[in-house]
Amino acid sequence: MKALCWKGVNELSVEQVPDPRIRNVQDAILRVLASSVCGSDLHLIDGFVPGMREGDILGHEFLGEVVEVGPGVRTRGVGDRVVVASPIGCGGCWFCQHGLWSACDNSNPNPVAVEKLWGHSSAGIYGYSHLLGGFAGSHAEYVRVPFADHNAFQVPEALSNDTAVFASDAVPTGWYGADIAGIVGGDIVAVWGAGAVGQMAARSAQLMGAEQVVVIDRFEYRLATAREHLGVDVLNYVEVDIMEALREITAGRGPDRCIEAVGMEAHEPGPLYAYDRVKQALRLQTDRLGAIRQAILACRKGGTVSMVGVFAGLVDKFPLGALMNKGLTLRSGQQPGQHYIPHLLQRMATGEINPAYLNTHPLPLDDGVRGYDLFKHKREHCIRSVFHPSAARAAA
Ligand code: NAD
Ligand code: ZN
Repeated sequence: MKALCWKGVNELSVEQVPDPRIRNVQDAILRVLASSVCGSDLHLIDGFVPGMREGDILGHEFLGEVVEVGPGVRTRGVGDRVVVASPIGCGGCWFCQHGLWSACDNSNPNPVAVEKLWGHSSAGIYGYSHLLGGFAGSHAEYVRVPFADHNAFQVPEALSNDTAVFASDAVPTGWYGADIAGIVGGDIVAVWGAGAVGQMAARSAQLMGAEQVVVIDRFEYRLATAREHLGVDVLNYVEVDIMEALREITAGRGPDRCIEAVGMEAHEPGPLYAYDRVKQALRLQTDRLGAIRQAILACRKGGTVSMVGVFAGLVDKFPLGALMNKGLTLRSGQQPGQHYIPHLLQRMATGEINPAYLNTHPLPLDDGVRGYDLFKHKREHCIRSVFHPSAARAAA
């Protein structure tokens, strides 16, 4: 089959690779109908998440048709159109049983390296390095889905492939970011990052009763879509002083809930950006902190900072004192999609959450390299490229 493979830092290519096969009784094989790029992939492509190997297949946000199931799969069958949660949950361990699916204790078969880094391993994730399981990703004609009963969700007929695909990751991550922020009616919520994740966090905050939602980025086209499709307020951090603007909006208090949806490659005006870049390039720290640092400084005393941007390791210039002295709550995590997807598919089917506009570049898998170039460099007003591997095969 054809697949989009990681070949080295900033090097991708579409290649012929072996088809996946059923390896465990609870596996399913999917014919991939739609597979989206995600900001998390950029961290792999740019070489900031370790553990990638030449030939690894990328992609963890996808939807497909079941073409084969193992003898232990009970509730999914051939022909089902399903969307799959990005982190893999076994369904049986203490964490999965407690709804903490992205902390699954069984889905990373090689936890040792990551245990040294983080104390414990989180769940395996498709196409997300050998630190997190070395699973083949979904930018391919077929993909193996372990523990299919727990990880693959039937898609309502009303939803198109290109809309439903975002129920895999961008929508549940946004919802999770808003959920762990603990939003209550009347809150003012600020969201850093106007990518798909930030925009879905903003929409979720509205649905949870936020009185005002402010989205922050520097790309005007992304801010414009957030304003147009969600009706949120926007701030361009290159044009305005964010701390001052947020103080003004909140009568000096600061936003009640701050959601960081940017992650380890944050950009930032000012000298700390150069400092972070140099330290990251020299491997003296793993992550750049521009957005999370500002979120902590901006948040009102006693408020909550929710961090759904991905970070890898150790950092410097983290405002620990602000976190402590202002009495902030900091929450984070990979999204436990299995906990939210059925409910979110219903909200998507009624149109309450409509992520279709995020798919700015539907493309055949053969254009995978170009799709990532558009996404990474924010060319042609790209928010997400979504690949259609099966279409590529039909045309071949
Ligand atoms: P994206 O690259 O499309 O968007 C990130 C946005 O952040 C860009 O528009 C960029 O301009 C903006 N940005 C950069 N620096 C900023 C700053 N200082 N202030 C405000 N905005 C800034 O990515 P995405 O797909 O929306 O993903 C966003 C983050 O969420 C990534 O780190 C990704 O790894 C992470 N993610 C986490 C989960 C999870 O389960 N926790 C799931 C999916 C994605
Ligand atoms: Zn993702």
